[in-house]
Amino acid sequence: MPMNTGFTARYRVPRGKGGSGRVHGSPRRLPTVVIGAGPYGLATAAWLSAAGTERRVFGEPMECWSANMPDGMFLKSVPAASSVSAPEAGYRLEDFRTARGHGPVGDRYPVPVEEMIAYGRWFQERRVPEVERRRVRSIGRADGLFGVTLDSGEEFLAGRVVMATGLVPFAHEPPELTGLPAELVSHTSRHHDLGRFSGQRIAVLGAGQSALESAALLHEAGAFPTVIARARSVAFGTPPDTDRPSDRPRPVRVLKPGSPLGPGWSLLACARGGGVIRHLPQDVRLRMLRSVLGPSGGWWLRERVEDRVPVLCGRGVRSAVAEDGGVRLEIEAVGDGRRTETLRADHLLLATGYRVDVDRLTLLAPELRREVETFHGAPRLSSGFESSVPGLFFTGLAAAPTFGPVLRFVAGTGFAARRLAGAVAAGSRERP
Ligand SMILES: Cc1cc2nc3c(=O)[nH]c(=O)nc-3n(C[C@H](O)[C@H](O)[C@H](O)COP(=O)(O)OP(=O)(O)OC[C@H]3O[C@@H](n4cnc5c(N)ncnc54)[C@H](O)[C@@H]3O)c2cc1C
Repeated sequence: MPMNTGFTARYRVPRGKGGSGRVHGSPRRLPTVVIGAGPYGLATAAWLSAAGTERRVFGEPMECWSANMPDGMFLKSVPAASSVSAPEAGYRLEDFRTARGHGPVGDRYPVPVEEMIAYGRWFQERRVPEVERRRVRSIGRADGLFGVTLDSGEEFLAGRVVMATGLVPFAHEPPELTGLPAELVSHTSRHHDLGRFSGQRIAVLGAGQSALESAALLHEAGAFPTVIARARSVAFGTPPDTDRPSDRPRPVRVLKPGSPLGPGWSLLACARGGGVIRHLPQDVRLRMLRSVLGPSGGWWLRERVEDRVPVLCGRGVRSAVAEDGGVRLEIEAVGDGRRTETLRADHLLLATGYRVDVDRLTLLAPELRREVETFHGAPRLSSGFESSVPGLFFTGLAAAPTFGPVLRFVAGTGFAARRLAGAVAAGSRERP
């Protein structure tokens, strides 16, 4: 049974938005609240507005990209796969470049993060001007509706809530390495200026893009990084032969068709088949999420890492203790815990990725979190991205365990926003 938290008693429907009396419990008369103004929140808002859905959108536009990713980073996704979806033409990354007087670019152009941030803000100003740059403090249940409290203290009722709060709440820190003070160990998502580590010895844990790019940027900023990777070797992508997939010879295109996730039939299936992936057994979906586009560095990183940054492959960190103002790491060979070595560093940087866990979304009241049915921490979602709590939607990374790897990338915004906005407009209730 939904709980009455007192919200319905306290709040009135604003005049002109469904009446002036007390709430009578119709979610359709109340705004849909989108929490998040990153690519997924912005795309969702754009598609909701096209569907004529009353909405309020909260968040700092492109905050994760400007505050939780390193300055000087390049996108691993190609320009053609880095556009935020809108129902109308004219809002793609290439349109932004044209508006700024820049020419077209293809697959061999790594997009600088600064360009992506500027593009996202340009998109927001033109397509989602209603964004309120405020933080939502909490979401509670209120007679089948949602009570929303902002940091400013404002409280209001919402008929539906879309969680587009992104990756940062899901930053994964191995529990055995988190007992140290923040000046000795931190997750990559806590940094945008790696230059602060200049002159320091930094142990970087991980083998993916984030680890390898952080190591390159640290090295270029005058720090002394060492990468520690469980993988037997670190992998880098291969530079695209041509700027446009359509310029590749026909046999190559048949064998490896282009897709927003990269060339190949399996990547094409992941990029286009989110609706089908949802029907696969959950173990298969979770395995796909781990293995498709597994850890590797972008092709342009190879020359910035190889022969410049020491990489200790096939090793894991067993323990980390504070010592002499730095950190002493006990490193063991993967599969042979007897082979150990010691590494001393000034800081341990965890490039250990992100794991979806609804319990980490403390923005949602505990009783609401308990109501969300999950599998391995991820919310069960309907084909319209609705959770087991009617009216509560999840998009972006939180939806990747359901719809597959494309939801980890900006390229998934079209699939997600179109479906989600359609489900909200239809007011349909389908079991997740
Ligand atoms: C290092 C790194 C590199 C990446 N490179 C690429 C790449 O090359 N290509 C690619 O496609 N993807 C890349 N990604 C993934 C990409 O970041 C995500 O796909 C994308 O940002 C997800 O968008 P989002 O809108 O879900 O979340 P985010 O971009 O994380 O946005 C979250 C939004 O939620 C808001 N928010 C959070 N909490 C609150 C609150 N309480 N109240 C109000 N607002 C709130 C924030 O202000 C922000 O606006 C990369 C990720 C990382 C970490």
